[in-house]
Amino acid sequence: RSLLMIPGPIEFEPEVLAALGAPTNSHVAPEFIEEFGQALERLRDVFLSSDGQPFVIAGSGTLAMDLAGANLIEPGDRALVVNTGYFSDRFGELLERYGAVVTHVRAPVGARPTLDEVEDALKGAVYQVMTVTHVDTSTGVVADVEELAALARRYGVLTVVDGVCSVAGEALRMDEWGVDIALTASQKAISVPPGLALLVAGPRAMEKFRRRKSPVANYYADWTNWLPILQAYEARKAGYFGTPPVNLICALNVSLKHILTEGMEARFRRHRALGSACKAAMAALGLGQVPVSAECAANTMTAPRYPAGVSGNDLLPRVKAAGAILAGGLHPAIRAEYFRIGHMGTANAGDLLATVNAIEAGLAACGYAFEPGTGVTAAVRTLALAQ
Ligand code: PMP
Repeated sequence: RSLLMIPGPIEFEPEVLAALGAPTNSHVAPEFIEEFGQALERLRDVFLSSDGQPFVIAGSGTLAMDLAGANLIEPGDRALVVNTGYFSDRFGELLERYGAVVTHVRAPVGARPTLDEVEDALKGAVYQVMTVTHVDTSTGVVADVEELAALARRYGVLTVVDGVCSVAGEALRMDEWGVDIALTASQKAISVPPGLALLVAGPRAMEKFRRRKSPVANYYADWTNWLPILQAYEARKAGYFGTPPVNLICALNVSLKHILTEGMEARFRRHRALGSACKAAMAALGLGQVPVSAECAANTMTAPRYPAGVSGNDLLPRVKAAGAILAGGLHPAIRAEYFRIGHMGTANAGDLLATVNAIEAGLAACGYAFEPGTGVTAAVRTLALAQ
């Protein structure tokens, strides 16, 4: 068996997979209406939003981004992209497609723009929307969403958080931090196979949508079509716009129940412990990391640099043979220089230690010199301290 330890999709729990394999119910059957209704309520709890409107729609994380862009942006709106890598670039491009005038505040690869830089940009023009990639999966850099959202609020700007690599792993508190839209996809820390775009829109975002003067330029993503349906399911009534992915929604409901049973605070703590253990292991083995400081490194994933003399083509197949599937680089500027380890969702200490052990086996097979057990020991020690 190999462990799938990439930054999504991840390993899924048997009960979640069983829901996917169960006979498909009618999308208007009372049992399914109840499941969908529960899933919508639970989603709000996972996003730590008391009054947000949840959207659950068949598609990937990019559709969740599209939902935000299509419904929020009107031609001529100004959007500020707090850019930490590949997925921030994607958000900028997407917003431009809907007519936004986009400004990027960029940072060197592995770093994040400072609050002062973001504030300078906010002072420079009247923006309607600011996007933040909570964890940029291409660099493993985490943004300070709490501070950024507070800053945006002071300038009357709506904050949209791409939480695809963060929601249900990194702490993200929509109400407390004043986040207007947070979005993710099922296959990451939400722990359901790929196929669902998930988004919660707070009252200010819904208000901007309601006041639109121009129609939403995307038929499938238009909240005008989806809102009555989601409201109906939450009120335990049937509705139809597009056939919901029945099995995926049942699987989502199972996973959201697991997440809330663990508790959001416990879940954030577990991800912090796994994140620091993985980083300590890589450092002990002498591997650098893409994030330039511990402060800006995510908890849901780790992005180690290959040591001198070892390439991805050499290392990753050997790590896989030793039991862990990892991902190569993604950021175009440094693609061949680093790899990515996901440790989110239901990943536990055993999974992480098995992964570090497989990395050690791979490094040894590549001829890299180190004391066997160095990485595993560092991870064990870090996990013990986090208890
Ligand atoms: N944003 C981030 C931060 C991501 O990590 C990803 C996927 N890796 C996406 C957006 C896009 O999601 P998807 O691949 O499900 O369309």
